[in-house]
Amino acid sequence: MFETEAGDKVFVVDGHVHLWDAREANRRNRYGLTFIESFWNGHEGMTPEAERWPFERFLHYGPERARKDLFEDGYCDYAILLPTYLEEFYVEGFNTTEQCAALRDLCGEKAILNGRMDPREGERGLDRLRADHARFGFKGVKIYTAEWYGESKGYSLKEDRVGRYMEACRELGISIIHIHKGPTIHPLNMDAFDVRDVDHVATAFPDLTFVVDHCGMPRVDDFCWIASQEPNVLGGLALIPSFIHARPRYFAQMLADLLFFVGPDRLIFGSDYAITSPKWIIEHFMDFDFDEATAREAGTALTLDVKRKILGLNAARLYDLDVPPDCRISDPGLDRAAE
Ligand SMILES: [Zn+2]
Repeated sequence: MFETEAGDKVFVVDGHVHLWDAREANRRNRYGLTFIESFWNGHEGMTPEAERWPFERFLHYGPERARKDLFEDGYCDYAILLPTYLEEFYVEGFNTTEQCAALRDLCGEKAILNGRMDPREGERGLDRLRADHARFGFKGVKIYTAEWYGESKGYSLKEDRVGRYMEACRELGISIIHIHKGPTIHPLNMDAFDVRDVDHVATAFPDLTFVVDHCGMPRVDDFCWIASQEPNVLGGLALIPSFIHARPRYFAQMLADLLFFVGPDRLIFGSDYAITSPKWIIEHFMDFDFDEATAREAGTALTLDVKRKILGLNAARLYDLDVPPDCRISDPGLDRAAE
C-alpha cells in the first residue's frame, strides 16, 4: 500500500511480475543469453541510476529478494505472477509456473500464481494445463504467441487450435487470459507479437477477459482501437509506466491515448519485475501529472482516483481481491468498470 503525504491510501497490485532464472547453468544455447540481455537493455535504459541492479543479480534474484522488492519496499498488496517458459532457450524453463510457485510458497496468497498454455502443444498441452490447474488453482493463464516451438516461430490467435484451449479454460473456470503483445525480444519475431489477432479471440469468447500485456507496444494505437471495440479486453500496462523516468513525454503520450480510448477502468499497472521494480515507478507515478494539453487529449486529469484505479482497484476487481475501505475511491459513482 502506498500512502500520500496527505494521508490518502492507495491499494497496489503489481499486475505483471516474474521469478526467472537466466543463470548460465540454466541456458540451453546462446539465445538464453541474448534473451536476458534484451531484458537487461530495458532495465538499464529505463531504471534511474540509483535503482539499477548488477547484471549478476538480474540473472537470478530468487524468491526472498522478490518478496522484499515487491511487498516490503515496492508497496504491493498483491502481485500477479505471469510465467514465460522459453523451454527452447532454458533447460528448466525461464520463468515457469513451477519456478514462480516459490514466491507463492514464501508469501502466500499475496503472490497470485497464474498458469501458462501453448495451443501448439495439442492434447499434451491440454493435459498439462489441467494438471497444473488441479495442483495450483489458477484464475488466469498467460499466453506468449512469439514463443519458439520446434520449427514454429510463433502463432496467431486466429488459429482454430487456440479456440480449443479457450474452451478448456472456460470449462476449468479460468476466466482471465493474459496475452503478451508488446516489444520484441531477441531472438523472437516482432510480427509474432502483433496485437491484431486479439479482437478475433475476444469476440469469439465474450465471457473470458483478455488482458493484453504491454498494450501491444509499440502498436499502442492498434491496441486502443481493438480495446475500444471489445469490452472484455483490458490493458496490462507493464513497461509503459517504466518509461516514466527515461521518457516522460513518451509515457504521457501513451497513457493519454489509453485513457482516451480505453478509459481509466480497464488499465492495470505492472512493473514487469524484475525488468524494473515497482518502488521507484509508483513513487514517480504518484508525483506525475499531465500538462493541460495532455490532460485534454486524455479526456481526464491524472487525479488520485484515476491513479488508484490503475495502480490497484482495476486489478482487484478483476481478480476479486478485498480492498480496505480507506483505499476505495472517493467518488463511488466512478467505480463501475469490468463488472
Ligand atoms: Zn513480462
